[in-house]
Amino acid sequence: MLQLKLYYHAKPYLPWRFRMATRRFFAKRKRIRYSGSWPIDPPSGAVPDDWRGWPNGADFAFVLSHDVETQIGYNKLDELLEVEKQLGFRSVINFIPEGEYSVSERRIQELIERGFEVGVHGLYHDGKLYNNRATFESRAKRINRYLKQWGATGFRSPLMHHRLDWLHSLDIAYDSSTFDTDPFEPQPDGLGTIFPLWVERKIANPESLTANQENQISDRRSAISGGKSKKPNGYVELPYTLPQDSTLFLLLRESSNAIWKEKTAWIARQGGMVFLNTHPDYMDFKGNGNASSFPISYYADFLQHVKESYGGQYWHATPDRVASYFVGCGDR
Ligand SMILES: [Zn+2]
Repeated sequence: MLQLKLYYHAKPYLPWRFRMATRRFFAKRKRIRYSGSWPIDPPSGAVPDDWRGWPNGADFAFVLSHDVETQIGYNKLDELLEVEKQLGFRSVINFIPEGEYSVSERRIQELIERGFEVGVHGLYHDGKLYNNRATFESRAKRINRYLKQWGATGFRSPLMHHRLDWLHSLDIAYDSSTFDTDPFEPQPDGLGTIFPLWVERKIANPESLTANQENQISDRRSAISGGKSKKPNGYVELPYTLPQDSTLFLLLRESSNAIWKEKTAWIARQGGMVFLNTHPDYMDFKGNGNASSFPISYYADFLQHVKESYGGQYWHATPDRVASYFVGCGDR
């Protein structure tokens, strides 16, 4: 973690082009080194022992998310959601509560009314959320306030940093800061599955809990389930399972969405969860993209492809519904 900390300390002083050129240099080598486990890591397709399948007998789940990084992304969001909506899809939009743009209550309401879900993407986007426990806990309190204010149940860490045991401090039904396989992320340890995973809070000695701690646990349990869950204290981890747009098109400079299509075909065969995260910030709605953007047609074509090739075979839901289904209190 020390190298990471130094990098995020120096990052604001390094020009974007320099950072990208360095990352591309290492990414090329990584791609060769990890060719046996990226974009597909075969063992991650193993079906969990207690897996009960997707709602309505669907072969696989199809889930979409967007992290909004900057004001530019915030401004492009409507255009992106229109593309999705026209094809009959809905997504979760993860906003940074205290980033460079401000998110109005009205904006949140309007998105929810249109059938989208809203999630919380860190507190800031500075890569320091997990620097130490005290920083995390003080930010967690404020993140919880935004979760409540926005009616959100899901969290995603900036830069996909993750410490799943710490996330129990958040009032969440699910987290989506991990992936099945993604050696290009700064914290590259994959979850090794294309299925949702229950993250149980480990209590060393339950008898030593104070009354206050017990109340907190029971409150959170009710918050997750509306009071109906049989599951004990914890949250659902939803790993993203397709490479992110930034990795494919900006870092590796792929000139098509073929990898998304190939991996979707594989996940569909395994009966897992196709979970794609993209960023409006990097989408070009007018041209063919450049060093820091890619044409929206890559994304629109992929959605069209899923709709046409797998019609009636997948369960399309936003992550909040996937998490509810997984803990056994929705979409049965
Ligand atoms: Zn982000």
